[in-house]
Amino acid sequence: MPQPKKRHSNSRQGKRRGAHWKITPPNLSTCPQCGAPILPHHVCAKCGHYKGRSVLEIKTKDKKTRDKGKHKKETKE
Ligand SMILES: [Zn+2]
Repeated sequence: MPQPKKRHSNSRQGKRRGAHWKITPPNLSTCPQCGAPILPHHVCAKCGHYKGRSVLEIKTKDKKTRDKGKHKKETKE
C-alpha cells in the first residue's frame, strides 16, 4: 500500500471536513401569471398555473367557521 508522504495539517483536515455544511438556497423563479416566487418545473401554489395554463383550482379560505363533524348526538333519554 502506498503511504502518504506527509501528515496533513489540522487546517487542511478542517477545511475538508467543514466544506459540506452549507445549505444552498433554492433556485427561485417568478410566476409569469401572478409574480409569486416558485420553484422551477413546479405548479405555482398561489394561482395554480403551469406553463401558461391553469392546472389547479386554488381553494380560498372561507370566513365561515367550518364544522368538523364533531356534533355530539345526545343519546340520553
Ligand atoms: Zn402564480
